[in-house]
Amino acid sequence: MPRFEPHPARRPVLVAGASSGIGAATAVALAELGHPVALGARRVDQCVEVADKIRADGGEAFAHRLDVTDAASIDEFVSASENALGPIEILVSSAGDIEFSPVGEMDPERFLQQVQVHLIGAHRLVHRVLPGMVDRRRGDVVLISSDCAPEPRPRTGAYSAAKAGLEAMSQQMRMELEGTGIRASLVRPGPTLTGMGMNSTPEIIGPLLGAWQDWGFARHPNMLRPRDLAAAVVAVVSTPRGAHLVLVEVQPEAPLRDTSKEQGGSQQ
Ligand code: NDP
Repeated sequence: MPRFEPHPARRPVLVAGASSGIGAATAVALAELGHPVALGARRVDQCVEVADKIRADGGEAFAHRLDVTDAASIDEFVSASENALGPIEILVSSAGDIEFSPVGEMDPERFLQQVQVHLIGAHRLVHRVLPGMVDRRRGDVVLISSDCAPEPRPRTGAYSAAKAGLEAMSQQMRMELEGTGIRASLVRPGPTLTGMGMNSTPEIIGPLLGAWQDWGFARHPNMLRPRDLAAAVVAVVSTPRGAHLVLVEVQPEAPLRDTSKEQGGSQQ
């Protein structure tokens, strides 16, 4: 007799921030596993494009506009998704963007906006979806964090603070949800090649990279691909009940270095 009823084979998924990057790749990967996915973001046409591709490949997908800074939009997105796909079993909160700035120079309204997207938006999603999961006594909540949460980087505006808040919220939820059947998990990406931060100018990026180097944050140039993070989310939600991947940090593997000289050195 298993300790837990296994998760159903078909688990409706909500992906917030699914129009590009990690969210889009995660929607595709979860659909490939046979889960129906609801894709939400402000650029709904891009969500429709990803959903069309999922359906063309034999999967089940639904796209709807979502702005995580707007409570009514979240409610509409979740209700429409549940009508289309059934009760949500997996929430992936991947919506985000970044505005680079030293803290002291950042307009407080812009600072607030970043916190709205990364922390308040994630909380609104959780608040909307969790009661149904609690009733069904099962579910996965996966929050996409950042390695800036444990190690804030200079000139990341409100981003590092908001992600640290997100991680605290997740850790708190994990304790509060103990024994409910719901797993609250963090996937913590390192540098990933997506659109995020790419609209910045050289005037902003130059000093930023200098400061990151000064503080030891630029070890090597390799970056992750969105599908690397999708694989981490898949691992979290596919872990059979009875175990919980609480935190998965994913970093890019460094380029292979020339070890011939090191070996030569050790022989001397
Ligand atoms: P992308 O820019 O490719 O994806 C971000 C997604 O968030 C887009 O789909 C965007 O859609 C959506 N989004 C932004 N604002 C809102 C909003 N207000 N409401 C709804 N959706 C929104 O970047 P990534 O894939 O890299 O980012 C995904 C997550 O990964 C973010 O939480 C980010 O902080 C995190 N991360 C990324 C890293 C990186 O190096 N790229 C490193 C560490 C963490 P739209 O604009 O259409 O609304």
